[in-house]
Amino acid sequence: LLAGCGKSDDVLVVGTNATFPPFEYVGGVSGDEIKGFDIDLAKQIAKDAGKTLKVENMNFDSLIVALNAGKIDFIASGMTITPERQASVDFSAPYYEATQLVLVNKDNTSINSTDDLKDKHIAVQLGSTGDIMAKTYSQNVTAFNTGFEAVMELKNNKVDLVLFDSEPAISFLNKNPQLKMVKLDFDAEFYGLAVPKGKTELLNSINTTLKSMKSNGEYDALVTKYMK
Ligand code: GLN
Repeated sequence: LLAGCGKSDDVLVVGTNATFPPFEYVGGVSGDEIKGFDIDLAKQIAKDAGKTLKVENMNFDSLIVALNAGKIDFIASGMTITPERQASVDFSAPYYEATQLVLVNKDNTSINSTDDLKDKHIAVQLGSTGDIMAKTYSQNVTAFNTGFEAVMELKNNKVDLVLFDSEPAISFLNKNPQLKMVKLDFDAEFYGLAVPKGKTELLNSINTTLKSMKSNGEYDALVTKYMK
C-alpha cells in the first residue's frame, strides 16, 4: 500500500513557540533541537496515546489560529488559561503556576510598585498575558514576536522595562548580568495545554497523562530538571 498524504493517525502534532525557556527553547548539540519542560510533557502525552510526537514551532500569536485551522493537534507553550482564550479553545487541567515579572537594567531604581509602571515604556511579547497586562498600566507598550527581542530592547536602553512570565524572565536574567528583576504584586497565572473546542477524547488523554505524571514523580523530576 502507498502511504497517503496529509496528517497521519500515528502522529500527534504539538504547536509551540520555542523562545520561552525553560518551557520551550531551541538548543541541543545540533543547535536546532526543540527542547524543554513542555516538550517533555508533550512527548509523554504522545507516548501514552501510542503516537509519535511532531513539534511545530511558530509565533506565540499564531498558535490558537493554527490549532483551530487543524494544523496542530494541541498547544504546549506556557500558555496561561484565560477566559478570553477559553472562548476559542479547551484547556487541560492547570499544570504550572507562574506570574509576571519586571526586568530592568541594574541601575534603574524607579520601579517599586505597580503604580510606577504608569506610562513607562514597556516591552512585551505579542499576544502574551504580559502584553495585555502592560496595556492596563501604560499607553507606551511595544510588542515583539519573542521575549528575547524585548530583552534586547531593554539592554539597548530603548525601553524602561520588560514584562514577562517569571520562569523565562529568570532564564533571560541568568544570561544578562546587567539586568535585574523586580517582583511586583501581580496575580498568579496557570498554564494549560490547549486543544480545539470539543476534542474531549484528546483532552481526557492529556489530563490522564498529567495526572499520572504528577502522582508517579515524573512531573517533579521535570521541575528539577528544568527549573532548578
Ligand atoms: N504565559 C504567557 C501567555 O500565555 C506567555 C506565554 C508564552 O509567551 N509562551 O500569554
